[in-house]
Amino acid sequence: MNKENRQKRVLITGGAGFLGSHLCDRYIKEGYEVICMDNLSTGNADNIAHLFGNENFEFINHDVTNFIHVGGELDLILHFASPASPIDYLEMPIQTLKVGSLGTHKALGLAKEKNARFLLASTSEVYGDPLTHPQSEDYWGNVNPIGDRGVYDEAKRFAEAMAMAYHRYHGVETRIVRIFNTYGSRMRIHDGRALPTFMRQALNGNPLTVYGDGSQTRSFMYVDDLVEGVWRLSQSNFIEPVNIGNPDEITILDFAKEIIELTGSESEITFEELPKDDPQVRQPDINRAKEELDWEPRYDRKEGIKKTLEYFEEKVNKMNINKPI
Ligand code: NAD
Ligand code: UDP
Repeated sequence: MNKENRQKRVLITGGAGFLGSHLCDRYIKEGYEVICMDNLSTGNADNIAHLFGNENFEFINHDVTNFIHVGGELDLILHFASPASPIDYLEMPIQTLKVGSLGTHKALGLAKEKNARFLLASTSEVYGDPLTHPQSEDYWGNVNPIGDRGVYDEAKRFAEAMAMAYHRYHGVETRIVRIFNTYGSRMRIHDGRALPTFMRQALNGNPLTVYGDGSQTRSFMYVDDLVEGVWRLSQSNFIEPVNIGNPDEITILDFAKEIIELTGSESEITFEELPKDDPQVRQPDINRAKEELDWEPRYDRKEGIKKTLEYFEEKVNKMNINKPI
């Protein structure tokens, strides 16, 4: 059967994680057959449990730093496998470097073999602790290669370089999305990132742990906006990296206060040491995504947080986390 007539097939590495599982849902909805590949190191089968039994879904438990075999044809590879939360990649520094380098190499090799399009999940961390603000795609970044966070930042920078080399040298159709802080259902409540941590603390009535004086900024995006951006990029012809993020910037201290307000909590705020190399500011310039993909975020932060609240309430209740932090 020729490519046009058969059902499209996508491989989603890291598909049992937070973002990957939402992407599995979206591509199934778009009529794709989805192969989800994950070693469950920071992901969870619960995130994809609702898809087991779906004839368009298959799960393969595999570490993508090893040779990847997928039978049959493939049209698209979404390469999302990688620890993403700072506490995860600080606990797994070598795994993080390996999945960004060896894992990306294997996934690109598969794309070349199958003549499939390849989309890399890159990150705003490639800009490091940025010296320009907001960050547009032509900024080269300010990364400490030997710092604690370097294992993640440099792995992603290597992955981008590898993707572009496969594009230029082998003609693989590559896409690169630079994702800015994203939140939503299926995040682990103990993954250490700001939103799940603050939600868990607020819902338990425990103090919210703001690092440093909380003056550092981030720009948080609701997961449905990210999924739409990835979908559009995967269908576009645009090769250069594209920022996908919500430009609505907020200090971490104000973010903590907002979560206290939206959860109706009486929690206080405590201040803890700022992790090393923690970026002072972060805000996406999304002009490229607007022009090339006709994309911009649809959910404002409060709306997105409210949509996420029910999930965290359920998680906190279920796990009965009542211990003080
Ligand atoms: P996550 O930890 O929930 O998901 C990552 C998934 O990759 C997990 O299911 C994990 O088990 C899997 N994985 C890790 N190493 C693997 C390996 N060697 N082989 C197979 N599977 C492996 O994190 P997430 O937030 O869903 O992030 C997904 C991707 O998006 C990552 O590549 C991350 O760098 C990128 N990203 C996320 C954000 C964000 O705000 N969530 C921001 C920027 C970039
Ligand atoms: N942060 C915080 N308290 C926490 C967790 C995170 O103050 O309990 C801060 C963290 O230092 C950073 C910001 O919140 O400045 C966002 O952290 P996150 O881990 O969510 O993402 P990243 O640092 O990768 O942007």
